[in-house]
Amino acid sequence: METQTKEFQAETKQVLRLVIHSLYSNKEIFLRELISNASDACEKLRFEALANPGLLGADELSVTLIPDSGAGTLTVKDNGIGMSGDEVIANLGTIASSGTRKFLESMSGDAAKDAQLIGRFGVGFYAAFIVADRVAVVSKRADGEGVRWESDGEGTYEIRDDSNQERGTEVILHLRAEDREFLEPARLRQLVRRYSDHLSLPIVLEAGGSRETINQAKAFWTRPKSELTDEDYQAFYKHLTHDTEDARAWAHNRVEGNIEYTSLLYLPKRAPFDLFDRDQRGGVQLYVKRVFIMDKAAELLPPWLRFMRGLVDTADLPLNVSRELLQNNRTVEKIRSALVKRTLDLLEELAADKPAEYAEFWKTFGMVLKEGVIDDAGQRERIVKLLRLHSTAVAGDAATVTFADYVSRMKPDQKAIYYLTADTLAAARNSPHIEGFRARDIEVLLLTDRVDEWVASHIHEFEGRKLASAAGSSADLTSAIQTPEQAAAESAYKETLAHLGKTLSGKIASASLSGRLTDSPACLVAGEFGLSLRMGRILKQAGQNNPFAALPILELNPAHPLALRLKDAADESAFGELATVLYDQALLAEGGELEDPATFVRRVNKLIVEGLAPQPKIVLG
Ligand code: ADP
Repeated sequence: METQTKEFQAETKQVLRLVIHSLYSNKEIFLRELISNASDACEKLRFEALANPGLLGADELSVTLIPDSGAGTLTVKDNGIGMSGDEVIANLGTIASSGTRKFLESMSGDAAKDAQLIGRFGVGFYAAFIVADRVAVVSKRADGEGVRWESDGEGTYEIRDDSNQERGTEVILHLRAEDREFLEPARLRQLVRRYSDHLSLPIVLEAGGSRETINQAKAFWTRPKSELTDEDYQAFYKHLTHDTEDARAWAHNRVEGNIEYTSLLYLPKRAPFDLFDRDQRGGVQLYVKRVFIMDKAAELLPPWLRFMRGLVDTADLPLNVSRELLQNNRTVEKIRSALVKRTLDLLEELAADKPAEYAEFWKTFGMVLKEGVIDDAGQRERIVKLLRLHSTAVAGDAATVTFADYVSRMKPDQKAIYYLTADTLAAARNSPHIEGFRARDIEVLLLTDRVDEWVASHIHEFEGRKLASAAGSSADLTSAIQTPEQAAAESAYKETLAHLGKTLSGKIASASLSGRLTDSPACLVAGEFGLSLRMGRILKQAGQNNPFAALPILELNPAHPLALRLKDAADESAFGELATVLYDQALLAEGGELEDPATFVRRVNKLIVEGLAPQPKIVLG
C-alpha cells in the first residue's frame, strides 16, 4: 500500500475536538484508555489462541510503556491481536466504537453540554490527542501485514504499509511540550498503580535500558474462589482498605448473564471515624474490565450499608463512566440491588453461624444498618430480622433479643408487640409506662438510639403482629369487660378526672384512669394519633415543627395514695398544687424538661414535710 492521506469522518473531527477540550483537566486518563485498549487486544488474542494455540508464540502477553525523552515520545505497546490496514481505517478513522456513535446521537450542538456528555461515553483511543499533538499507530495481526497510521488529529490521517513489525500494536504519542511529565518513570508508575494495578496482564516499564513490571499483574478478584485461602482474602482486604485489622467476613461472587460482574464485599471489624456521616460515599470501588474507575462509588451500595468495603468489576459499563452517569444507570441499579442482597445474605449467615461475632458487628454497625428500615421498604422485612434489641425479658446492657424471640414469647391473646423509646436503658427499664406490662408479664422492647423512634415508626408489623408503643394507649392494658372494682373506681374518680383536665388545661388533653400503673401515681401517654412525647422533643431540639403536635393524656393510678389524696383535696389550691406535681413528675419520668424546676422542688419539699408526721417540734435555745 502506498502512503495514503485520508480524511476523518466528519463526526470524528467533532468528537476529537470535544475530547481534547472537555478532558483537558483530567489528562492522565489517556493512559488508562490506551492501556485498557492494549489489554483488550491481548485478551482477544488469548481468546483466539484457544482455538489456534500457535498464535500465542513464545512471548508472554503484556503491555509495555516506553518513554523516550530524546524523541519526546511515549509508546504504549502490546503484543495482542493487532489490526489490519482495513481495521485501522475502520477503527481509528471512523466512529468505530458504539460508545462514540451513541455519544454523537445524543449530541445537542451546544458545546458546553456536549463536553459534559462526553464523560458518559468511552472516548477510548481518541484520548491520545489530549496529551499528544501527533499520534502514530503501528500494528500487525499475527497472520497479516504491518501497517502504520499517523495523524495530528486535525482532520486527516496518513496510512501506509510497514513491514518491520511484530504482532501487536504500538501507539506512539508525540507529547505536547507541556505534557512531558508523562515521560517520567515515577509518574508512569504512579498512574499504573492508580488505574491498572489489578489488570491481569503485566504492565512493563521499559526505560533506561531496563524492563520492569510495574503492576501486580493479577486481578485478585478474577481468581477462582477455590484457589484462594482465607489468608489471601485478608491480605487483599488490607491492601484494599489499609485497615490493620482483619475483615470479619466477605463475599466473593461472579455473576454471568444479562449483566456480567464480579463483586468482592468485605465486612470490616471496626468502624471508620466518619461512620455516622450519611454523606460519606461508602467503600465500594468500581472497576470496568479490571481497570480501576473510581473509589467510593456511592451508587453501588445505599447509605445504610456504608460500612461495607470492597469492589465491583463489570464489563457492562463504559471505561469513561462518570459519577453522574452512575446515578441513573439501569446496570448500576441492578448491580446495587444484587449487592444489597449479598450483604444481607452475609449478615444473615453471620447471625446464624456465629452469633457472638454478629453481636460484635451489631455493636459497631447496628446503628447504621437500622437506617435501612427507614430507607429501604423493599428490604425492610429482612433488615428487621437482623435487628438486635434490648428488652424487659433480658437483663443487662449486652443481652439483646430479636423480633422472632419476642413473638415466640407472646401471650396467646396478646394484641401487639410493645416497645418503649427512651434516652437511656435505665430510663426505659424504670419508666412508669412499662409497669402495667410487667405486672401482666408482657415483654417490652427497649429502644434507646436516637434513630429508634423513626425505625419503630417504619416497622408497622412483624409476622402479622402489629407494633405498638408502650407509651401509647394500649389494648392489652384495658380489659374488654370491666371488673366491679374498675367500675367503682371510674365512678369514684369521675369528678377528679374532670377537675384535673381543667386545672392542667393547655398541658394535657384529658385525664383518665390508668390500667398500666402499679407503682407510679401518674404518667403521660400520647394520644392515638399524636407522636410520642420523646419524638416531639427530638423534633423540637432539631428546630423542627411537630406536625402531629397533640397534647398528651394524663393517666392516673387510682390505687396510689397520691391519687386518693388528690380526690380528697381540701380546697382548690391544694388540688392545684398536687395536680401540678403529678404532671411534672410524669413529665420527668418521661425524660422531659420542666418549665419551672425550682417551683417543682419547692412543691415536692412541701409535700414531704407535710408527710413527716408527727411534725417535729423545733425547740429554740
Ligand atoms: P473502544 O475501545 O471503546 O471500542 P477505541 O476508540 O478505544 O474504542 O478503539 C476503537 C477500536 O480500535 C477498538 O474497539 C479496537 O478494535 C481497536 N483498537 C484500539 N486499540 C487497539 C490495540 N491496541 N490493539 C488492537 N486493536 C485496537
